[in-house]
Amino acid sequence: MESNRSSSTHIVIVGGGFAGVACAKVLAEDSRTRVTLVDQNGYHQFQPLLYQVATAELAGRDMAFDHTEVFRGQDAVTLVRSEVVAADADQRSVTLSDGGTITGDYLVLAAGAQPNFFHTPGAQEFAFPLYSLTDARRVRERVLQLFADASAKPELIDEGALNFVIVGGGPTGVEIAGALSELVYDVMPHRYPNLAVAGARIILVDLGRALLAPFSDESHTYAATQLQQRGVELRLGTAVTEVARDHVSLRDKTTIPTHLVIWGGGESASAIAGNAGIGQGRGGRIDVRPDLSVPGHPNVFAVGDVANIPHGDERALPQLGSVAQQSGAWAAKNIIGDIGGTGRESFHYRDKGIMAMIGRKAAVAEIGPHRHELHGRLAFASWLGVHAELLANAGAELRAFVAWAEEFYFRPHHRSAELLDPEQVELPRIHWGQSR
Ligand SMILES: Cc1cc2nc3c(=O)[nH]c(=O)nc-3n(C[C@H](O)[C@H](O)[C@H](O)COP(=O)(O)OP(=O)(O)OC[C@H]3O[C@@H](n4cnc5c(N)ncnc54)[C@H](O)[C@@H]3O)c2cc1C
Repeated sequence: MESNRSSSTHIVIVGGGFAGVACAKVLAEDSRTRVTLVDQNGYHQFQPLLYQVATAELAGRDMAFDHTEVFRGQDAVTLVRSEVVAADADQRSVTLSDGGTITGDYLVLAAGAQPNFFHTPGAQEFAFPLYSLTDARRVRERVLQLFADASAKPELIDEGALNFVIVGGGPTGVEIAGALSELVYDVMPHRYPNLAVAGARIILVDLGRALLAPFSDESHTYAATQLQQRGVELRLGTAVTEVARDHVSLRDKTTIPTHLVIWGGGESASAIAGNAGIGQGRGGRIDVRPDLSVPGHPNVFAVGDVANIPHGDERALPQLGSVAQQSGAWAAKNIIGDIGGTGRESFHYRDKGIMAMIGRKAAVAEIGPHRHELHGRLAFASWLGVHAELLANAGAELRAFVAWAEEFYFRPHHRSAELLDPEQVELPRIHWGQSR
């Protein structure tokens, strides 16, 4: 897409996720701006639906929205599909992986987060993170491989072929544990009727003593009870000390044989936060001023997961889709305020609350800034509503999401053959009995 607003204010945005897309959409409405949006993938991966892809509930295409579709008809937005390897806050420019540079009047950093393995030996090499579409496809592929191998040679179950370890008891860990339990115990027996899935284990490990730490005590208990009823073993109060090809070691000296360790154990800012000549704060993120600009660089903004966004007495707002979406749009409004001479305003977050899905009819939601607490079906409905709104705001198609919700609610154990077929992802076969 080529812009013809050549004399207008040029804004370079790094990252086309919730924050970058929201920022570009607001700017594209103003005839005095033109935008270059640089993203390494060329699509917006809708992270809240990653675990559905990982557990074969949704196809990858249903949670990845091509930027050319998202910005169709908005010719003020030029799309560049490339990795940004460095940014220069003084010059408001970015360097691309092919060596090219792009300079703007404004630079908006919206590059999101990456997994943080906290230097756990072996984790980077052997754990399966869940932060991107590629990650989700690799998890799904590994689950399918494990079932296929165990079905061909059931004695592999004794070697841990159907042991699934999840690291992290936050929303990502809890959601994937619930969804995996359904796939393993309810869906796969239809595909492999001869397999003794009772020998399968899903083990969730967290250093903390409670699941869903930011939620209330009631929610901690509810989530734990729901997962245990679904066959998930909880190993709380202990850390993973090593991840290996065929096992995981815990601080309490236990070793669990496994070929799938899903890492939901923490995140830090995307690498670009450290390559922009800007100081980094907690989690490697960029500390921003109340107007979302970077201290000392008034024409550089950082929004979404890559930023520590101040929030009253709290250290920073959490890494959430709604925070990212709203902060991206707010940065755009402040840029427009500069152009029009109306000035900037401090970011004000409209808090919708926090929520996590555990399984069909089982979810926790703490709604709004006062955290009105819901469990069960009502929380499930709230989760659907908030995510439908996030999708719609991101300019995404709702059809696949609505179809998934309907299927999930009314036919929870059904999966189309396509979802359970191996895909073309780069994942080596498992060589049983060769490691350690
Ligand atoms: C598994 C999971 C489940 C979640 N569930 C929920 C939920 O239910 N509800 C909720 O509100 N939030 C949820 N979140 C959090 C939410 O998804 C994030 O807060 C949100 O995605 C942050 O948006 P963002 O735009 O800052 O970053 P992202 O959405 O991560 O987008 C960043 C973009 O930048 C691009 N990029 C990164 N580095 C570069 C580079 N160097 N060069 C070019 N492009 C680059 C990436 O390709 C990506 O497109 C979840 C997160 C995860 C991982």
